[in-house]
Amino acid sequence: MKNQPSVRSVTEPAREIKVWKEADVVVVGGGPGGIGSAIAAARTGAKTVLIERYGYLGGIATGGLVNIIPNLADISGKQRIYGLTAEMLSRLDRRGGTTYPPKKDWGSADKDVVDYYHEANMDWFYIRKDTDTGQRRLIYTAVVDPEILKDEFNDMVLETGVDLLLHSWGTRVIMDGNKVKGVFFESKSGRQAILGKVIIDATGDGDLFVSAGADFDNECDNRRRTAWLAQVLWITNVNLKKFGDFKASQPEKYRELNQELAKLDGYPMFFKGLLKNQPNTVWYHGMQPQPERTDAMDVEQLSRIDIRARKRALITYEFMKKHMPGFEDSFIMLTAPQLGTQGGRRITGEYTLTEKDLESDEVFEDTIAVLANNDYGEISVKHPALCIPYRCLVPIKVDGLLVAGRSFSCADTINETFNIIPHCLTYGQAAGTAAALAVKAGVQPRKVDYKTLQDNLRKQGVNLPDTKQVKKGSAPSKVPGRAKEYYYQDYTVAGQGDPRHEPRI
Ligand SMILES: Cc1cc2nc3c(=O)[nH]c(=O)nc-3n(C[C@H](O)[C@H](O)[C@H](O)COP(=O)(O)OP(=O)(O)OC[C@H]3O[C@@H](n4cnc5c(N)ncnc54)[C@H](O)[C@@H]3O)c2cc1C
Repeated sequence: MKNQPSVRSVTEPAREIKVWKEADVVVVGGGPGGIGSAIAAARTGAKTVLIERYGYLGGIATGGLVNIIPNLADISGKQRIYGLTAEMLSRLDRRGGTTYPPKKDWGSADKDVVDYYHEANMDWFYIRKDTDTGQRRLIYTAVVDPEILKDEFNDMVLETGVDLLLHSWGTRVIMDGNKVKGVFFESKSGRQAILGKVIIDATGDGDLFVSAGADFDNECDNRRRTAWLAQVLWITNVNLKKFGDFKASQPEKYRELNQELAKLDGYPMFFKGLLKNQPNTVWYHGMQPQPERTDAMDVEQLSRIDIRARKRALITYEFMKKHMPGFEDSFIMLTAPQLGTQGGRRITGEYTLTEKDLESDEVFEDTIAVLANNDYGEISVKHPALCIPYRCLVPIKVDGLLVAGRSFSCADTINETFNIIPHCLTYGQAAGTAAALAVKAGVQPRKVDYKTLQDNLRKQGVNLPDTKQVKKGSAPSKVPGRAKEYYYQDYTVAGQGDPRHEPRI
């Protein structure tokens, strides 16, 4: 048996901490989950504070440059996501900050319509196969300008009267028995505290619920998208017409160049940027399966990933500029200010969503969201919508605490499909509304009346089913893996075979 390295430790002395604010609802983390929470809590009448560790809102949606807002409708074209996502898109629309297919094309099997997104290498975000007819259909998905979105999120949050504090890192919860009653945070102004009646952990990684001693799960199969961390790269001033002509006329040469780039450790796959206000731009998501799962909670690994990602971005850019027709005058427009992280801790809630729910048409008594179930082939066609119960946001045991965003209570097999930006905004909208209602009623979040919560959400434009129509689904059978061929369409063209055989960092 190997000797374990000795771990040195020091004791931190106790000290008095200044209380910066007292509020009804304190939201930690300003990504989609936190923004949804803060806006909804304030609109429902709660005195609300939102703290965010970086200098802008949006989390991975803006800082991670993952600006594609997918699965807004199901495969038939029926819109499923409304509420704050619809509000965000309509505000962005007024400023030219979003591009999306016209409504008449949602669910369309028209070849020209579908091919436009296929050509952009955006199959995973825009196209699904209808297993009944064999046709490819267009999914309603939007792309957003992250710089306009940062400003719009500030406005949306501040208009509701939320106290917004940026550059503030939530570190630990303050407990009273099994109840959370505040948070400590660190900033350039030192360590301070905020007291609140309900705390919402919207850090994405569950930074706070772990300090509350809440049960959680962080299992994550490394074949899943959620197990990979990635830094997004945007290259602009690309002559896409010239590139397209070259790819079409010399597919072998194109393949060879991609193989060469992959051998150099560059990224051989990009999406054509679809934003109308940013022509000639391409997006590299840099997401590639690793032989072992990456760990968003390991700061040493995060450092190594960022360093390597920067190197790979430059390898890619320099290679493309030198060798790929159309990229001669290109330049790096932006690398994501923050690493795209996911696959962190997931709370163990009063209900845990699993694969079985994909095949059930159950309308939960406490449904707070209806999401398009688009990624599971035949199952999706049979069960195009999935209801999410409020209990997925409520930790077992710990009081005074809710969770919003990607760390909601679910199996990792489900998380990779249902952790996306519009979904996290939706969970946030429900968590914030519930927190405010709990404060009003003087009850713990787990005791919030579901019907009152749903009535409030409906008033905010969330589309919810009538819970009286409870319909049990068919017995669950084995759920196939997600349709990976869509994501890796161009990557496999690069001839690397199984992309999981990438070198580890
Ligand atoms: C590479 C990659 C590509 C993706 N592509 C897409 C895509 O195209 N479309 C899509 O819809 N989804 C995509 N996703 C998933 C999606 O971006 C996330 O699941 C979603 O943003 C999660 O929202 P969230 O609010 O839960 O967490 P996050 O977006 O991670 O937001 C958490 C926020 O909390 C802040 N925070 C964290 N810890 C603390 C702390 N201790 N104190 C204070 N603040 C803190 C963070 O700075 C951040 O602002 C992608 C994810 C990755 C990693």
